[in-house]
Amino acid sequence: MTTHAPLADLTDDELTRFLQDRQAAYDRLRGEGLKLDLTRGKPAPEQLDLSDALLGLPTSTKDRAGTDVRNYGGLEGLPQLREIFAELLGTSPSQVIVGGNSSLSMMQTTIVNFLLHGGVDSPRRWVEEEKVRFICPVPGYDRHFSLVASFGIELVTVDMHADGPDMAAVEALVKDDPTIRGIWIVPTYSNPTGAVVSQEIAARLAAMPTAAPDFTIFWDNAYAFHHLTEDEAKSADILSLTAASGHPNRAIVFASTSKITYAGSGVAVLATSEANIAWYLKHLSMASIGPDKVNQLRHAEFFGSAQGVRDHMAKHREILAPKFAAVDAALTDELAGRGVAEWSHPTGGYFVNLDVLDGTASRVVQLAKEAGIALTPAGASFPHGQDPRDRNIRLAPSFPGLDEVRTAMAGVATCVALAAAEKVAA
Ligand code: PLP
Repeated sequence: MTTHAPLADLTDDELTRFLQDRQAAYDRLRGEGLKLDLTRGKPAPEQLDLSDALLGLPTSTKDRAGTDVRNYGGLEGLPQLREIFAELLGTSPSQVIVGGNSSLSMMQTTIVNFLLHGGVDSPRRWVEEEKVRFICPVPGYDRHFSLVASFGIELVTVDMHADGPDMAAVEALVKDDPTIRGIWIVPTYSNPTGAVVSQEIAARLAAMPTAAPDFTIFWDNAYAFHHLTEDEAKSADILSLTAASGHPNRAIVFASTSKITYAGSGVAVLATSEANIAWYLKHLSMASIGPDKVNQLRHAEFFGSAQGVRDHMAKHREILAPKFAAVDAALTDELAGRGVAEWSHPTGGYFVNLDVLDGTASRVVQLAKEAGIALTPAGASFPHGQDPRDRNIRLAPSFPGLDEVRTAMAGVATCVALAAAEKVAA
């Protein structure tokens, strides 16, 4: 591994040479006429191919209990699939609803229900509150933030650390302020940092006193089974922790097979207390007479069991792990030791979090764009797209082929070095 000298230690002459050198490398990069995209965490076509057996399923029109899956009914989801997800999420089938193809939709429905009906523990509907605020650990998932912001819910940021949100900040916010009604948590291999919420932090979230009686943890376990190494993170059991702390309705768990089978045609899952399940189903019954059970049955047949899901995820890992290694290698090669960038080394999930020199993230994204490499807009992982330090970039290496990831990331590393040199030399 090459380790370079910190940029800050270079003499003026060395810095000028470095800048000229990077400018020349960047001009060559622009001349290559690249067209590469590292913006969205989508599965690659080869990952989708892994699930193509779905296209020949289900083999039956009836589920295990003899229910005709082609007909109406079964709002809570197919029993076979509820069992599989209950085992995977460490809860009981009665605490699981299997829905349509998007967990984000289930999150939005949940928020709308809080707004228009109030939750099980709400004193009144959220629309009747003067103000509703959500805690957003940053960097985090942009769609979580924009989803609640679209309803006028205010966003309050706290820092996301490697083991979860800054709990001192969270506890101070929720303790006396009843306007704080929820927190977004991606507990396992978080988007974008790859952080895994520790058992201790999960226990503090479950037990902390909150001024709002209906304070809710939106525990979005989108990447629970998406390991990149053999060191498989185990998600904290938030439902047992909240129940044991006397707040049984505090947590709602979401997950989906979007990055397990087909991103557009998978199944989504919600798990929570039985009281919350009844609340959710009551309101859902106004909108639907039952989910797409044909899709649910083909997933149940495809997986066979919870172990079937785990085995399937090992095949994704084989495709994804080399791409993440390529990201790390390109960044290390160009930037290690220069003191101008830090990046995550995720052991699962879909993203690498890149922090560049303060004030240069937008410049890096612009340079990359002009060289034909599309990156997620700088600041995308912050509420309203505003990164106060303009240093954060989310890299999503899953979709392009391995060679494309190598080429794109060598280019990104050049852009990071050039933007840093421009800044330091200025
Ligand atoms: N939650 C997180 C943290 C995600 O990163 C994503 C997609 O990138 C989703 C949810 C979307 O899930 P779904 O496809 O089930 O709506």
